[in-house]
Formats: sequence, structure tokens, C-alpha cells
Amino acid sequence: MSDPRSALVLFSGGQDSTACLAWALESYSHVETIGFDYGQRHVVELECRLNVRAQLHATFPRWAGKLGDDHLLDLQLLGQISDTALTKSRAIEMNASGLPNTFVPGRNLLFFTFAAAVAYRRGLSVLVGGMCETDFSGYPDCRDNTLKAQQVALSLGMDTPMTIETPLMWLDKAQTWALTDELGGEALTDIVVEHTHTCYLGERTLRHEWGYGCGQCPACALRARGYGAWRRHGAMPFADTEQAG
Ligand code: ZN
Repeated sequence: MSDPRSALVLFSGGQDSTACLAWALESYSHVETIGFDYGQRHVVELECRLNVRAQLHATFPRWAGKLGDDHLLDLQLLGQISDTALTKSRAIEMNASGLPNTFVPGRNLLFFTFAAAVAYRRGLSVLVGGMCETDFSGYPDCRDNTLKAQQVALSLGMDTPMTIETPLMWLDKAQTWALTDELGGEALTDIVVEHTHTCYLGERTLRHEWGYGCGQCPACALRARGYGAWRRHGAMPFADTEQAG
């Protein structure tokens, strides 16, 4: 039985947000997606979004009827307030505070606020994001308490119940692969491997068992370690698999 509410998934075309989209399609009666174009170095991420949506629609009839519109917001203005490896061609490195310089201060708070405004207009009451406390990136706006506070602020500020769901919050990367397998089996795992994008460098020609990427950057390393741990330990969601990091 689906939850009768409708959901809006923050969907980047990466592994995590694809798992969230599958989770939402399994959970809710109607699901739309939203993406943000903020001057990513690689348009490949934006292309992956549409490919993944098309693949889910074609492969899973039980989800096809629930998958609604996609919304792409132009947030190029973030380039004016950030100076990071995601928006400029610079090496991935840690800054003095211990956060990767891919860090855009409060970015997820902005994304959820824009998503909530779109959700309000569309009559959607659940926002779904792939934020996670266990991936060691240290982003304070990915933390559970931060997002619970934002859920309250959005619900009060829009005077309507607005729920933020983060199905990956307490999962590591191996458990995210296991969740994907649980939701859609090998067919969904294949879509994640072939069509989602993770690599910071935008590499899409090198194919590994876990998908495409340079294999060296922190995002590729995390994805590869998670895939390896999941394959070794089998499809046991929420089991105590080895931590990446
Ligand atoms: Zn990479």
C-alpha cells in the first residue's frame, strides 16, 4: 500500500539520489523530481538525471505510473557565493576547517527551501533527499538535526505540513547498494551502475564494476569501496558492513 501523499525528490542523477527516487516510488502514490543547475563543472550530471528517470520508467512498470514531472531550477547564483572544486577547476582538497573545498555553505538548506516552494505550488507534501550522516563528508547541513529543524521551519513558514524524508541518513555506502537491491533487484543495480554519475571529475569513459568514473577522486573511492563491501557481504541491508573512510 502506497502512502497517499505525494513526494518531491531532490534528484541529481547520482547513486544516492537514485536510491532515494526508487525508495520514494516504492513508498508514495505520486513522485516528482527536482534538480538544481548551479554551474557544475560537468553537464554530464544533468544528462544522467534524465537518463536515469527514463530507465526507471521503462524498467519498472509499477513505478512508471507514479513518476511525474521533473523540475530543473537554475541556481547559477550559487557561483557568486561559492569558490569550490564543484564549480571551479581546482583540485579536491581539504580546507582549514576540515571540510572538503567542495563545500558550499548551507547548500542543502537552500536546496530544500527551493524544493519546498516548488512542492507547495505542486501540491506535494514530502521532500526526499539523499543526505547522510555516515558518509564522513562532515557537511553540517546534511545532519539529521539540521534537517529536522528545517522541516519545522518550512512547515511553519508555509503554514502547511512539509515532511523531509532522508532514507539514507544512517546508511553507509554498502548499505545504500543493498537498499537499491532490495527495492529493485539486479535491474535497479544495473541502472545505478550504468546510468548514475558520482565522479567529481566528470569521467564517463572508464567503466568499473561499480560504474563509470576516474576511480581516484573521493567520490569514486567511496562508491567503489561501498560496492565491494556490499558484493562481499551479500544483499544484507542494514547489516554491520565495513565503514568506508
Ligand atoms: Zn572520480
